[in-house]
Amino acid sequence: MTQVQKKIAIVTGAARGIGAAVAQRLASDGFAVVINYASSSAEADASVENLVKAGHQAIAVKADVSKAEDVRRIFDITEQKLGTVDVLVNNAGIMKVMPLADTSDEVFEQTFSINVQGTFNTLREAATRLNNGGRIINFSTSVVGTNLPGYAVYAGTKAAVETFTRVFSKELRGRNITVNAVAPGPIATDLFLNGKSDELIQQFSKAAPLERLGQPEDIAKAVSFLAGPDGGWVNGQILRANGGLV
Ligand code: NAP
Repeated sequence: MTQVQKKIAIVTGAARGIGAAVAQRLASDGFAVVINYASSSAEADASVENLVKAGHQAIAVKADVSKAEDVRRIFDITEQKLGTVDVLVNNAGIMKVMPLADTSDEVFEQTFSINVQGTFNTLREAATRLNNGGRIINFSTSVVGTNLPGYAVYAGTKAAVETFTRVFSKELRGRNITVNAVAPGPIATDLFLNGKSDELIQQFSKAAPLERLGQPEDIAKAVSFLAGPDGGWVNGQILRANGGLV
């Protein structure tokens, strides 16, 4: 029996958090998945092992998305081992919460270099290396809507990502590639939970009318929709997935 070629999805920052749930979901949807990681090699290897054991196709690729040469390597290795890419999920990101006045040059540069330049690097590579008919899903945040104190730099990086999303969707005219972003509200991962008191976590949990924290799987479902057959007419949009927070 000839094996049907699976579509291929790269998920950046996919060893843990939302990215891990997205990789798991896209594998279940039938994609061969590339689990990109920067430092969580044990988690990346374990995810690949679990996915392969479950009958899916998966590889792990170490790369710092803020470095253009690393990003080229993600695409090179994917093409060598699996084939040309159909879906790019730009999930990798960092968040440091502090008032703008207290933000060091280092925090500013690191946040922009991973969240903005990292997304720029993968988008630029995808422009020539994604199959026609492909999908790109970027990651923003609902803080672009809530504008909470302490989030100026982080939300600023994601506002840039939202603009990249809208403009790039137009630049890819003629390729049948959609470019959208998911903008989660608070999700129970290290990025959100680290450094917050139980009281503050409770407060965030009750903020949305659905009165709970989001789970990584809630976001993976939205990504699955945008990457899958039913999401094909959605293009250049920012999908806020936040239980109705904003
Ligand atoms: P997380 O649990 O802290 O995970 C972050 C992921 O990003 C890790 O897999 C990490 O990889 C990866 N990463 C960081 N720097 C990287 C780099 N230079 N190159 C490649 N990968 C890198 O965060 P999360 O909550 O899953 O967040 C995922 C995305 O959702 C982010 O873009 C975030 O801004 C967005 N988001 C999250 C929330 C939330 O409440 N959690 C809300 C709105 C938006 P390693 O572990 O290998 O270093």
